[in-house]
Order: sequence, then C-alpha cells, then structure tokens
Amino acid sequence: MLGPIYLGLGSNLGDRNGYISEAIAMLNAHEFIEVGAVSEMIETVPEGPLKQPFFLNAACEVSSFLSPQELLLATQEIEVHLGRTRKGTYDPRTIDIDILLMGDLLVSDDDLVVPHPMMHTRSFVLKPLLDIAAQVKHPLFQKTIQEIYNEYQRFST
Ligand code: ADP
Ligand code: MG
Repeated sequence: MLGPIYLGLGSNLGDRNGYISEAIAMLNAHEFIEVGAVSEMIETVPEGPLKQPFFLNAACEVSSFLSPQELLLATQEIEVHLGRTRKGTYDPRTIDIDILLMGDLLVSDDDLVVPHPMMHTRSFVLKPLLDIAAQVKHPLFQKTIQEIYNEYQRFST
C-alpha cells in the first residue's frame, strides 16, 4: 500500500456541510477505502470568473489498496451519487472530490494528475490540509504542506 492519500472536498450548493459529511461517510463505506483524519470544514470565497456561493472545503486522509484510476472512479461515483452535474471547471457543485496526494506516487494520465497540479496555489486546499498533513512532504517540491502554505501566504495579497 502507498503512503497516506489525501483528498480535498468542496461544496457550494445546498446543504454544503451535509454533502461533505455524506461524501466522507460514503468513502469510508467503500469496501477498499478507509478514512483516517478529517480536517475542519472552512468557508472559502470562490475563485474563478463566475459569481457563485461561498464554498465549504475540507480535506481527509484515506488509506486504500485501490489504484489511482480506481480511486478516481470511486470518488467520481460518489460525486454523481450526491447530485454533482458536470459543467465547467468553475461551476457551482454539490460536491467536488479531488485527489491531492497519494504518498510519493506521481501520476500523469490524461484524466488524472497526482499530486493535484493546482493544490499548492489554492489556499482552500492548503488550509484544510494543514489540519491533518502539515508535516507531509509534497513529492515534487520536496517541501512540507506547512512550508508550501507559508510560501503561498508570502506571495498572496
Ligand atoms: P475541478 O476539481 O478542477 O473543479 P472537476 O472536478 O470538474 O474540476 O474535474 C475535472 C477533471 O479533472 C476530472 O474529470 C478528472 O478526470 C480530472 N482530474 C485530473 N487530476 C485530478 C485529480 N488529482 N483529482 C480529481 N480529478 C482530477
Ligand atoms: Mg474535481
């Protein structure tokens, strides 16, 4: 099995807290996924061109024997089950589940890139991740989440 896997979750439609909680429960209910630490949920301002409701974001640690593609499929099935309809990248959504890190594994398939290529530029990803993975190293940057977050802070605003 790989090192710990980290997922990022977000919701900005309807019962946001309920969708995130349900997504985590469904992950844990999966035969081959076990959820470990779960971050606080934080409210964040949406990024991107569309005016849309604020998000709730969270991160969780999971362990799994699934392959990256199998894990992606599992998260996408949960998104669909929780009413996510796929439009653009910056559309409002009941639930978004992103694979952030899978131990030291590097994936660059057409439909799956791990570590998630935007994670180090998004405070709504880094902040919840800090709760549960501050000392975890990003395998490409060879920096901890804490260090990446500190740098993000220095270069933003
Ligand atoms: P976003 O999360 O950027 O708002 P979507 O959730 O709509 O966008 O995902 C768009 C596509 O991103 C998915 O169809 C998926 O194949 C792809 N993708 C690439 N890398 C990842 C990853 N690490 N985690 C989740 N999806 C990913
Ligand atoms: Mg996504």
